[in-house]
Amino acid sequence: MTSHSDAGTTLPADTYRLRLPGPIAVPERVRMAIARPIVSHRGPEFRAIWSRTIEKLRPLLGTAQPIHPLATSGTGVMEAALLNIVAPGERLLIVNNGQWGERFATIGRALGAVIDTIDVPWGETVDPAAIEYHLERHDYRALIVVHNESSTGVVGDLATAGRLVRDRPTLLVTDTVSGLAGMDFQMDAWGVDVAVAGSQKALMCPPGLGIIAASEKAWNVIRRDNGLPRFFFDLRRARDSYDKGESTFTPAISLVYGLDTSLDMIHEEGLANVLARHARLARGMKAGAAALGLENFARAEAQSNTVACFHLPEGVDGTRLIRRLYEKHRTVIAGARNRLQGKMIRIGTMGAIGEGDILTDLMHIENVLAELGHSLSAGTAVTAASAAFRE
Ligand SMILES: *Cc1c(COP(=O)(O)O)cnc(C)c1O
Repeated sequence: MTSHSDAGTTLPADTYRLRLPGPIAVPERVRMAIARPIVSHRGPEFRAIWSRTIEKLRPLLGTAQPIHPLATSGTGVMEAALLNIVAPGERLLIVNNGQWGERFATIGRALGAVIDTIDVPWGETVDPAAIEYHLERHDYRALIVVHNESSTGVVGDLATAGRLVRDRPTLLVTDTVSGLAGMDFQMDAWGVDVAVAGSQKALMCPPGLGIIAASEKAWNVIRRDNGLPRFFFDLRRARDSYDKGESTFTPAISLVYGLDTSLDMIHEEGLANVLARHARLARGMKAGAAALGLENFARAEAQSNTVACFHLPEGVDGTRLIRRLYEKHRTVIAGARNRLQGKMIRIGTMGAIGEGDILTDLMHIENVLAELGHSLSAGTAVTAASAAFRE
């Protein structure tokens, strides 16, 4: 048993409950896979694992295109996406309704792109007419829409965005880092041209793998010989290696073992069942939170199934709530790392979790809310969530 009162201990106690919207708790089976011996990344054993892992990702992304796992974080593949398509002076249109849209704008500026943002109040969705208005006025290299904006819990309408760019040279770039494996994603059918994802969210792995895929339309742009300074993230290299069934550089071998196994777990449960479970868990979490007076941050028609974001009741300090959840219950949830700090809480509803995990979260939140002076009759949240699970 590890002690959690000992400040010198770096490992969490068995009771530690990692309930962030990422990274999320890694299932035992995945951790065991990651512990396996390292083999040659050019040898037959690893080549088999690499190729089958990519094939098992394919239905999650909904694409027939090459898929490239890279050793990097989510931001790494966000940067890789832009680095490979946009030259200095080219224009990007970015839907900015949260922190990750903002990050795309920051990356684009760092690469010398001209950035136009459509600024939408956080928690809201973009009006497609606003996108269309901009697309009519300028030639954009890409339109960027985040699939699952984990700072607000809003889901982007990618099918509509895809329709808007389909008959233009503009590419649709999307970040599904916190959506993939927890929510439906149809890269080819929706007309997504570049999709990026990460290992540490609903894919149930530790952080460290970024995943990127591009459409044929995007490849025509990526293949331009435009002197862009790219090397590690040069997708042309990744594509050459993909065609040979390997990774360009030394891959994160252990993490690929983990992903191979977490994808087995997903396909054994059945992707449709996994997505339905996420929807059910999110429904229960939202119903329980509503019973506690926690108002959902995201517009009702566009709420995520992988991350739940809530306003706090009048007079409740979010920072204290989060701290007490950790101190009393070892339950680790997120606040906001921006202007909403102290005003909202965010909880992951993704990964290898079940109804019991959501009920435990709600029980702990209810308990701490009472301690902070926001008292309700005991069991209110659990009762509401249990009913919602059965809907
Ligand atoms: C978690 C997350 C990322 C990941 O960024 P990191 O570089 O891995 O920290 C990117 N986009 C979204 C929407 C996310 O939720």
